[in-house]
Amino acid sequence: MNNLENNSEKYDYIVIGGGSGGIASANRAGMHGAKVLLIEGNEIGGTCVNVGCVPKKVMWSAGNLKQSIEQEAAGYGLDVTLSAVVFKKLVANREAYIERLHGAYLNGLASNHVTLIYGYASFVDEQTVVVEGKKYTAPHILLATGGHALQPAIPGAEFGIDSNGFFALEQLPKRAVVLGAGYIAVELAGVLHSLGSEVQLAFRHETVLRTFDAMLSEELVTNYQKNGIQMHAEFTAKEIIKKQNNSYTVVAEDGRKIQADCVIWAIGRGPNTKQLGLDKTQIELDEKGQIKVDKFQNTTQEGIYAIGDVVGKVELTPVAIAAGRRLSERLFNDKENLYLDYENVATVVFSHPAIGTIGLTEKEAEASYGKENIKVYRSTFTPMQYALADEKTTCSMKLVCMGETEKIIGLHGIGVGMDEILQGFAVAIKMGATKADFDQTVAIHPTIAEEFVTMR
Ligand code: FAD
Ligand code: NDP
Repeated sequence: MNNLENNSEKYDYIVIGGGSGGIASANRAGMHGAKVLLIEGNEIGGTCVNVGCVPKKVMWSAGNLKQSIEQEAAGYGLDVTLSAVVFKKLVANREAYIERLHGAYLNGLASNHVTLIYGYASFVDEQTVVVEGKKYTAPHILLATGGHALQPAIPGAEFGIDSNGFFALEQLPKRAVVLGAGYIAVELAGVLHSLGSEVQLAFRHETVLRTFDAMLSEELVTNYQKNGIQMHAEFTAKEIIKKQNNSYTVVAEDGRKIQADCVIWAIGRGPNTKQLGLDKTQIELDEKGQIKVDKFQNTTQEGIYAIGDVVGKVELTPVAIAAGRRLSERLFNDKENLYLDYENVATVVFSHPAIGTIGLTEKEAEASYGKENIKVYRSTFTPMQYALADEKTTCSMKLVCMGETEKIIGLHGIGVGMDEILQGFAVAIKMGATKADFDQTVAIHPTIAEEFVTMR
């Protein structure tokens, strides 16, 4: 049946999910004159704005500032006494900031003539969706429904909160345990510790961030342990027991026990595909339940596309945005060959200190090109920021180079400022820079970043 002829409201483009990718794609299509409907089931902005990057960065910045006052101020002759963290005020200010962002998003959508409705969408057929009983039709439909935190099926798992629960906390937990080993686990453990919680980080294998270059995870573990975060390696949670005084015991398979007032799960995320009525379409999912797409973000159903976390290729906000914009350029601005290249996407982990990384790890490079074709440059030093500080945090950097030209195929760093340093180097690497190109670049002194162009 051609649903363009049924009694539904008709659009050129329907976007399901008003998060990072959906908003970006809807706006770009609207800019090119398409009649666009954006459907959001919860709050505009999605994960990143409401319960992801934005509130996380606020909390991380608060923790950094507190640590700088405690660890560095006195050495610089600054007589500062920090009497308390007023957690409620931090949270209220953070949420007020997010509210202002909501306004900015709504203005942006309005200026691109995108129609926004709230409610959960599901397919009626491959060109029609229903939201609260009303039907909407378009020849092009985008799925940008994001993902959700996973929890294991163990007794008492429900006593743990996830990252959404972390952002709903009204007071700083005295003792927290974070269970997991990826971005969210190390970020939340670092934030909680820097703000003053006693933190334990428990993970099922030998270390955290196992898919990152080994230098990064080693340095992070060293720093976290030095600063007082207790690490529990090879800890697989078997059960969580709630005690009467609202504290919890996390019991491991080998019998180890961790006590805490707040248990946080950070063991990965899964795609939001349920209740979408995908069975009304020819859309196929992969073995992880993520929507299968080709390089143009086409699903296996003609006229339906998917981007961002629901596809799960690289779960980062700028990736969802870039894929969404390119898709709209292709569909509504005749850029028929435009697609997102997922190679060499730079990423930062907002740990304490931050991690910045792009390209292959040393191990991956050796496996792909042979150890004999890989040359690695490495540097560890104490940034000048800590010259007068009581407590110093080192910085480690690595360049992974390939072949005779020493093309840089991996760049990794952990240390203060790495979050801001990485972006410019990512441009160079995307352009195919070699070690010689880096060496020919005159350093900026005294900075941390100069180390990347002076390594021997
Ligand atoms: P989302 O932003 O999740 O948006 C999906 C939207 O779809 C949601 O608003 C949801 O309500 C809506 N929706 C779902 N189903 C339906 C339906 N049936 N009908 C209507 N609406 C629906 N990335 C970074 O790059 N940097 C960071 O620092 C960073 N920090 C993060 C911290 C945390 C704690 C988390 C959880 C994630 C973080 N991320 C970060 C990842 C980033 O948030 C995601 O990659 C990004 O939000 C994905 O965008 P998206 O558009 O695919 O989905
Ligand atoms: P990640 O995929 O980063 O990490 C989850 C880790 O948890 C896995 O790597 C795994 O590590 C461990 N794990 C998986 N299953 C279990 C289990 N059953 N029990 C115990 N541990 C388990 O997921 P996150 O939830 O941390 O974050 C999701 C994504 O969101 C990230 O991949 C990232 O793309 C994005 N994000 C980005 C941020 C940023 O840009 N700064 C910040 C936060 C999130 P192992 O196999 O070693 O046990």
